[in-house]
Amino acid sequence: MRIADVQLFRVRGMIPRRLSFSEERQVGALDLFPEYRARTVTPPTAAELAEDRPIEGVYVEIATDEGMSGLFGPIMEAQAYLIDTQLRRYLIGQDPIAVEHIWDVLARHDRHGRKGYMMMAISAVDLALWDIRGKAAGMPVYRLLGGPTREAVPAYASALGYSLEPDRVRERACAFVAQGFRAQKWFFRYGPGDGRTAITRNMTLVRTLREAVGDEVDLMFDAWLGWDVPFAIEMGKCMAPYHPRWLEEPVQPDRIESYAEIRRATGIPIAGGEHEYTRWGFKVLLDADAIDVIQADPDWAGGLTEMPKICALASAYDKQVIPHGHSVVPALHLVASQSPAVCPLLEYLVLLNENKQWFHKTKFMPENGLIHLPTEPGLGIALDESRVLMRERLSWQ
Ligand SMILES: [Mg+2]
Repeated sequence: MRIADVQLFRVRGMIPRRLSFSEERQVGALDLFPEYRARTVTPPTAAELAEDRPIEGVYVEIATDEGMSGLFGPIMEAQAYLIDTQLRRYLIGQDPIAVEHIWDVLARHDRHGRKGYMMMAISAVDLALWDIRGKAAGMPVYRLLGGPTREAVPAYASALGYSLEPDRVRERACAFVAQGFRAQKWFFRYGPGDGRTAITRNMTLVRTLREAVGDEVDLMFDAWLGWDVPFAIEMGKCMAPYHPRWLEEPVQPDRIESYAEIRRATGIPIAGGEHEYTRWGFKVLLDADAIDVIQADPDWAGGLTEMPKICALASAYDKQVIPHGHSVVPALHLVASQSPAVCPLLEYLVLLNENKQWFHKTKFMPENGLIHLPTEPGLGIALDESRVLMRERLSWQ
């Protein structure tokens, strides 16, 4: 079997706004600047929630000369561009089952492509190839990776986009518990640029959540690169009595010594790595004692050829990999193939997953806090054509 074609395409459709909205934003790195700090989100009105809104998704499809093809997405247009203009020439005519070989070639072809968008493009190609591997073997991908290690994988509820108004937080946190989630993550809104009340306002979120869910539910908090070291240490000391399972990405990813300093000073487990790539990137974080929980994203960090290597590395340092949940499907296959000691849990972005899986026939949604494993061969991503109102080929050749 040989790779015959690599196609990038965009699909468009309509999604009910009640499934895809944002009521609040999280603090971020650009909040350093007042004009970005001033950005607000206007929650949708009841009338808007009753409407549909346009949605689109970009996918990569790798076709073989035997008729079988691999599909992965949604991806960013920047990934699609790099696949089309740079990676395609290394793929046509190759054996799609030989993912180690192809990964090595793609990772070596561009010396600037070790991290960032190029590695994300390589990851998308790798995931489409794993879809072919699964279909060729007649097995779901987690079986080829050595799993399953259990019948269903526990997910945590990730509350990105939800209102931080205390009554709404309380209501949603309790709803997540009632839905069977044993852990939930919330996103801080305020950072060092927001004045003396920023800590107080962030702590209202922490306190509200702990009081709402009690001591038995794990709470995690994400600062999404939006803080500096003094702010993170002060927040960490205030949060410590509420026993967070982790504090995530307190500062920008390359501030590795800062991560280590925050970790030492607060005593709170630190999570990070959704913006890190490959085994070599994670080795630096591990050697620096910078993080407790590795959040490599299979969609970005090197695909399913690279992720088991990152898991092996993490396990040698006795650290856990709890993948970032950009899209849930590759992470589900990975977690299902690894020991629960290494990969205990999966992130499930509650609002974003309605978007990410909108065009897919099979939806991977938690039931009672668990995501059940697919049985179909490959990744289990196939488009629901009834939702595709328009499809266009993307080409920059
Ligand atoms: Mg995060």
